[in-house]
Amino acid sequence: MGERIQSIRGMHDILPEQASAWRHLEAAAQRVVDAYGYRQIRLPIVEKSELFARSIGEVTDIVEKEMYTFADRNGESLSLRPEGTAGCVRAGIEHGFLHNQLNRLWYVGPMFRHERPQKGRYRQFHQLGVEAYGMAGPDIDAEVILLSARLWRELGLRGLRLEINSLGSLEARMRYRETLTTYLRNHLDALDDDSRRRLDSNPLRILDSKDADTRAVLADAPSLLDALDEESRRHFDGLRRLLDDNGVAYEINPRLVRGLDYYSRTVFEWVTDDLGAQGTVCAGGRYDGLIPQLGGRPTPACGFAMGLERLLALLESQGLLPPEETPDVYCLSLGEDARAVAMRLMESLREAAPSLRVLTHCGEGNLKAQLKRADKYGARVAVILGEDELRDATATLKPLQGEQPQQRVTQTELVTNLLALCAKENTVS
Ligand code: ATP
Ligand code: MG
Repeated sequence: MGERIQSIRGMHDILPEQASAWRHLEAAAQRVVDAYGYRQIRLPIVEKSELFARSIGEVTDIVEKEMYTFADRNGESLSLRPEGTAGCVRAGIEHGFLHNQLNRLWYVGPMFRHERPQKGRYRQFHQLGVEAYGMAGPDIDAEVILLSARLWRELGLRGLRLEINSLGSLEARMRYRETLTTYLRNHLDALDDDSRRRLDSNPLRILDSKDADTRAVLADAPSLLDALDEESRRHFDGLRRLLDDNGVAYEINPRLVRGLDYYSRTVFEWVTDDLGAQGTVCAGGRYDGLIPQLGGRPTPACGFAMGLERLLALLESQGLLPPEETPDVYCLSLGEDARAVAMRLMESLREAAPSLRVLTHCGEGNLKAQLKRADKYGARVAVILGEDELRDATATLKPLQGEQPQQRVTQTELVTNLLALCAKENTVS
């Protein structure tokens, strides 16, 4: 026997018993994006490495140490996508749907980052994101936040906090960068190694540091919000007003910066305390600077991405996952002739009621063994086609849940009877 091959660390199988939770989450998300008129876009999982270097930025954690980068057979450097925005913008420029147009888009799919796997942090994980192009005002920022808030309500999630901040214009950020760097240089000894390294390359990211000593230094650092330019301040006020109007509570977190460098003005995160260190389930903001950076004509843009694994963990911890779906009907049959009748009858049942879950027993087993299987699957009704039934063209209907007695019906009336039985059961449960 050959040695067994294992899956890759941090990349998980989603087994059938978990898949129903995924479908529940994805279906809710699709209802919500549809309700706001967002259109789906499906993009490649692999892109040229340069796309991510030029968008996310060379000096970010993602590009520096987390990307799955490889040379393909022609020697071209490709990467598994670590996030969805860069590919979306690349597609927008390529197909010309960004400039002078309005777009509301969404995507879902796997992303890849070579991080240290732990709870809520994987190497293959899934994001659902929305991107809105061509709208410069705070209204669209508010809309994507309202959309995410609606999803939490749709799912029944509790205890998610919204944090918002403004990074200002590029110029205001540059000025602030100087002020911050000067302040931090005066406290160099108290900074952690990562932060010291970032002082020249990406000092704003230091605001995000998890190191206790660095955070103590940051407590007295000049605030990004005090450095806002006038227009960004108005934008931020506009966003706050729209959130207030719609009853969405938020906290202003002046230290909120994004891991990705292409953001400007609005940034936000939805955070929970229920998931330990990996508490951010959704993060986004405005990234007006990205499109020209990738060679497109300036186009305002904003969006967010949510981590589906973290949302599923939260749903589970709050007891909000629906039970796995079970079959409505399980059809038992004995012998080759009865099997043929069973398959034909169940086909007509599926024809009449496409939403029912109908299983036909395949393979070996006497009726007792088949009935056991129907029970094990949690089916609601068993249809039995034994020797007697075959002889007089009938079928036995045996409710497997509840108190109803079993009944014998003609095969011509079987579908009608099953529909009635399943409908009745539906109203009972
Ligand atoms: P973190 O600070 O947790 O590393 P990030 O800033 O790298 O997050 P983003 O790039 O903004 O995260 O991605 C948006 C969302 O995707 C995150 O808020 C999180 O819910 C999810 N996410 C990011 N990285 C991972 C991962 N490795 N495993 C699972 N989910 C992830
Ligand atoms: Mg990260």
